[in-house]
This record gives sequence, structure tokens and C-alpha cells, in this order.
Amino acid sequence: MREAVVSVAGELRMFLRLGRREEPVRVSCDGVSTLVHVVESLGVPRTEIGSLTVNGHRQSLGYLPRGGDIVQVAAVRRPQVAESARFLLDVHLGALARRLRLIGIDAAYDNNAADDDLVTQANEERRVLLTQDRGLLCRRKLWAGAYVLGALPDDQLRDVLDRFAPPLAPWTRCTACNGQLRAVAKPTVESLLEAGTRRTYDEFAQCQACGRVYWRGAHAARLQAIVDRADSARCRGQKRSTGENHVTDDLGLRCDGA
Ligand SMILES: [Zn+2]
Repeated sequence: MREAVVSVAGELRMFLRLGRREEPVRVSCDGVSTLVHVVESLGVPRTEIGSLTVNGHRQSLGYLPRGGDIVQVAAVRRPQVAESARFLLDVHLGALARRLRLIGIDAAYDNNAADDDLVTQANEERRVLLTQDRGLLCRRKLWAGAYVLGALPDDQLRDVLDRFAPPLAPWTRCTACNGQLRAVAKPTVESLLEAGTRRTYDEFAQCQACGRVYWRGAHAARLQAIVDRADSARCRGQKRSTGENHVTDDLGLRCDGA
């Protein structure tokens, strides 16, 4: 069986299995395995492959590599044109989900979802699956996904914004359930508030899905800092609108409404 030589872009080498991170990687060509399967067998999920070049020519994922081929694997170009502006996060990315919602990005999340459920939901709702599970991203049935870089939620947020550069709409989405917020008059929610909140704040918003009430609470400055960092991380494209910025969130001071 003859061999092909595969070079993987620097950004993708972290996916290569230990012991195979030295360039170049030599792989056997069995005449049956497609190029995408060969690359995935090295550890690089198909969602992270930007382009494949064989002997200097672009090739599709389904190309059958032959002995002597020189293959180059490029990473996804950033910002990537996402298949959808809606996302689904796996069970380990709850803190990232809340941050995405804080800046108005549609981010579905269920901490009990099994892997099969995640793939089904992503496909049915046309959401891009965000995960750090390479096996999930290699599922053939999965329509769209992305590997999230970073161990800390703020780093993960920066990575998602850098990769997709989605439009931001801070303070428009419920951080608890992903529902949309709508500004409400104080009398509408007054009965749901603690006395101290009722005395201190006058502007409120309510989640249209779960009824939680939001206001600019003690954590507003910390949250604004997250929003500001997200805005600068995005650093290109559409500027966020500030016209509807009267809706606030607390992540800790919410009043659990009806
Ligand atoms: Zn809600």
C-alpha cells in the first residue's frame, strides 16, 4: 500500500493525535477512504477543515487520495460565513451559552442533552453545534458545527465571535432560557419584585418565554464589561445598535416571574 503525505495548517495541529504532530504526516492509501476520512482519522474534525489541496490543486472532501499525493489541509477562514446565525451548545458550555445570550445571540442549551439529541436538534432547528467534543463534530449526520477554543468562558466567547463575527444585540435575550426580552412598564411587573428592587429601579424587561423580569442590577457593570469585550472582540462588520439598550439583565438579581 502506498503512502500520501499530509501537511496540516498550524492552527489545526492541536487536533492531531500525540506522536503525529510533527510534519509531515504519512498516511496509507487504501483506495477506498476519502480524503475527509483520512484527515478525520488524524484527529481533525471535518468542521474545522477550510480547504484541501492535493498536489497544488483544490480537491473536494470526497477525493480518493493516491500514493505519492501531497495533501495540504487549511483551517476554516475567519470570519466564517456560518450556515446559520443560530447556535446549539453542548452540555459542557453552559457558561458560554449565557454569555452569548447576554449579547443577543440565539444560543440553545440543555444541560441534560445526550449526544444524539444534540445532533438531532442541531439538524432540525438548523443550528450550528458548538462543542469541544471532536467525536460529535465528526458525526456524518451533523449538518453544521464548530470546535470552540479556550478553557475559560470568556476565551470561548472571544473565539466564537472571532470565528463567526455574528451581529450583536446586547440585552435582548433571556440568559436563563434564550427567550426574547421585551421592555415592560413597571406596574406590569411590580407584584413580582422584592421591595428593595421596586424602590430602586424603574426600567424593566421581561422574558417573553419564561416570564423572568430583568433590571439593571448590581452586576450591571460586570455584564457591561462582558458586552464591551465581546464588541471589541468582534471588531469588524456590523456595529451593534444601542437604540434599544434600556433592557437590562442581572444574572443573579433576577426576580423569578410567572
Ligand atoms: Zn426566559
